[in-house]
Amino acid sequence: MKTKLLSDTPEEIGLAAALIRDGRLAAFPTETVYGLGADARREDAVRAIFAAKGRPADNPLIVHISDMEMLPAIASEVPETALRLAKAFWPGPLTMVLPKRDCIPAVTSGGLDTVGIRMPAHPAALQLIAKSGCPIAAPSANRSGSPSPTTAAHVMEDMDGRIDAVIDGGLCEGGVESTVICFDDADTIHILRPGLISEEDLAPYASRVYVDDAVFRQIAADAKVASPGMKYKHYAPKARMIPVDAPDFDCFAAYVRDHAEQNTFCLLFDSDPEIEGIPSMRYGDSGREQAHFLFLRFRELDAAGAGKVYVRMPKKSGADLSVHNRLMRAAGFEVITL
Ligand code: AMP
Ligand code: MG
Repeated sequence: MKTKLLSDTPEEIGLAAALIRDGRLAAFPTETVYGLGADARREDAVRAIFAAKGRPADNPLIVHISDMEMLPAIASEVPETALRLAKAFWPGPLTMVLPKRDCIPAVTSGGLDTVGIRMPAHPAALQLIAKSGCPIAAPSANRSGSPSPTTAAHVMEDMDGRIDAVIDGGLCEGGVESTVICFDDADTIHILRPGLISEEDLAPYASRVYVDDAVFRQIAADAKVASPGMKYKHYAPKARMIPVDAPDFDCFAAYVRDHAEQNTFCLLFDSDPEIEGIPSMRYGDSGREQAHFLFLRFRELDAAGAGKVYVRMPKKSGADLSVHNRLMRAAGFEVITL
C-alpha cells in the first residue's frame, strides 16, 4: 500500500474523509498527538487499525467526535457531570469513558461495554470528523510500544506502507495523549491516564477526583485493570531511559559522570548547565514544555544512537504528572533514587 501524505487544506482533508467513509485508515493531527483514524462503527476498518499498529486486541480505542450531537449517538448514558466537563474542556484533551451504544462494536471498545469519547481541539481533526460524517476511532498513530508521534514524519516512520494517508498538520502542541477519566459514581471522577488536564483542573466538577494506582506502578500483564492500556509497556524509545530522582542538579551530574558509558546521553531541564563530556538534549522546565518535547526527544535520542539516557525527573503534580507517567512507563517504572 502506498501511504499518501496530505496537507491540511480543506480539499485534502476531504480526500482523507472520503477514505474514512470507505472504511480505510487515515492518520491526522490532534492537539495531543497524531491519531490513526477509521470509522468507529465499522468492524473491518477498526480491525485494520489494530493490525497496522500491532496493538493488543483488548486495548480499547478512543472515539472522536466533532459536535455534541454525536455524543448521545454513541454513549447510552451521559451523566450530568460529564456534560459539565464537556462544556468546560471540549474541544480539548479530555477522554470520558461512558456506557456504549450497540453502534460501537466490541472490537472498538476492546470487548468492554463502555467507550472512551473525546472531542479534539484541532481544526484539521474536527473537519475530518465532520466531513467523514462518522465517529472516528483513533489511537495514537505509532506502532504499538513506540513513542506516540507528534509530527507527520514520525507517523510515516512507523506507518509508511501500512495505512492509506496521513494529514500533515505540523508539530502537535500538547505532546502527550489525553487525560482519560471514568465515573465511579455520579460524583466521583477516576483518572485512568493523566494528561494535560490535571486532577486540580477536574476538582471543581466532582466531590472526589483521584488517580488510578496503575499510573504510579507497573501492573502485571494478567491483572484486571480499569484501563487496559495502562498495563502495556509503552512510549519507549529503543534507548534505555533511566529517570534519576536527585535532590539537585549537582547530585544528578555526579551520578551520571560515575556511570556514563559510550553512547550515554542525558535528558536535562532547559535551566540545567551542561555536564562536560556527556552529550545532552533538553526537554523544557515546565510540565507543559516537557509534555510538548518528550516524545520528540525520545525519537531524536534514537536517531542520535543513544544507549543509556539519564533523565532529570519531572514533577509528579498537576499537568506534570502526565510527563512523569510517560517517562516511568518508558523506563518500566525503574528509577534511580539518590
Ligand atoms: P491510545 O489509543 O493509545 O491513546 O490509548 C487509549 C487509552 O484509553 C488506553 O489507555 C485505554 O486503555 C484507554 N481507554 C479507551 N477506552 C477505554 C474504556 N472503554 N475503558 C477504559 N479505558 C479506556
Ligand atoms: Mg497510544
